[in-house]
Amino acid sequence: MANPIFSSLPTTIFEEMSGLARQLGAVNLGQGFPDDPGPEAVRAQAAEAVLHGYNQYPPMAGLPELRQAVAGHYGRTQGIDLDWEREITVTSGATEALAAAFFGLIEPGDEVVVFQPVYDAYLPLIRRAGGTPRLVSLQPPAWRFDRAMLEAAFTPRTRFVVLNNPNNPTGVVLPDEDLALLAELCVAHDVIALCDEVWEQVVFGNARHRPLIAYPGMRERTVKIGSAGKMFGLTGWKVGFLCAAPGLTHSLARAHQFLTFTTPPNLQSAVAWGLANSDDWFARMPRDLERSRDRLSEGLRREGFAVLASQGAYFLNVDLPASGVALPDREFCLRAVREAGVAAIPVSTFYEDAPVTSIVRLCFSKRDETLDAGVERLAKARALVAAA
Ligand code: PMP
Ligand code: GLN
Repeated sequence: MANPIFSSLPTTIFEEMSGLARQLGAVNLGQGFPDDPGPEAVRAQAAEAVLHGYNQYPPMAGLPELRQAVAGHYGRTQGIDLDWEREITVTSGATEALAAAFFGLIEPGDEVVVFQPVYDAYLPLIRRAGGTPRLVSLQPPAWRFDRAMLEAAFTPRTRFVVLNNPNNPTGVVLPDEDLALLAELCVAHDVIALCDEVWEQVVFGNARHRPLIAYPGMRERTVKIGSAGKMFGLTGWKVGFLCAAPGLTHSLARAHQFLTFTTPPNLQSAVAWGLANSDDWFARMPRDLERSRDRLSEGLRREGFAVLASQGAYFLNVDLPASGVALPDREFCLRAVREAGVAAIPVSTFYEDAPVTSIVRLCFSKRDETLDAGVERLAKARALVAAA
């Protein structure tokens, strides 16, 4: 038997790179979190709730006021009609929501279609739940799937597909035709879609977030996952939502009760307030982030880096070979943090099979000075590598 003291699971790349950045005093464009402290009024509500609110166990499914606010928010912003009592469960972040979905729904032997690059939590949790991942590999620069790729991945044992849209790390916001195609296959194969939509508010330019649950035939077979951490740029808050038809919600809530049971009530009530009172924030936040994306992108281009398109989330990707860097992504990132003082994320870590090793992910939800320093140090890293 394997030694139970040593886990075979790796340390996440986010922890590894942020750890190195802290230790070495590097500019951190790795792990995705904003420099901006988030909306003050929402934080003030949380402080008030800690001091004068209720700080004991809230109901297992979440505070009614938050479940009502989530239903109201998705009704207003995405046209989805959710029954707050029977279709919404509050979780401790999207991470717990994902775990509850995998543990609550997957039966041993079920096949789960997953797209690479894949967010780091999915595969370990799917396997612990007894599922068998079937990987669909997406390639830069467009990272699109097509009918043939989906048809090759869906088998008679497929029970689930996991979709992250808008996507981390690629920054892709899927167009209508791709979502319609995926919905068509889910319906044809009687498959449930687990949709990680934590980046739904962080979308730029003409791109529009379309929830898969709104596509024909998907209302009863989709679990939609959101995160207040991303909506309000408060990534440490860990308040997430599971939205699904009552039958699915029943199973999700059963898993949630044995994972965390509840989520801090003070943060729940602040998020409830925030969802009902933050139209200005939801309008301004993506515009400010878009400016930061453009600043990083222009700075990098000026230095001769080849930058991929980014329509959503906090991330911009750089193509190393096209930027004149002849190292694989992980080696470049380790040299960049150690020798040039800038942390980034190698996209190969989001692949399990046949990794793409040419792309590095940079987080742009940062102050201008941080972005400018990041560009300067990345240019230094490239010069060091070229000189070697
Ligand atoms: N899914 C994706 C795609 C993410 O990018 C993140 C965090 N950045 C999460 C889930 C986790 O969200 P939370 O912090 O709410 O657990
Ligand atoms: N989702 C964040 C990112 O992609 C990191 C979250 C984490 O550290 N687990 O950077």
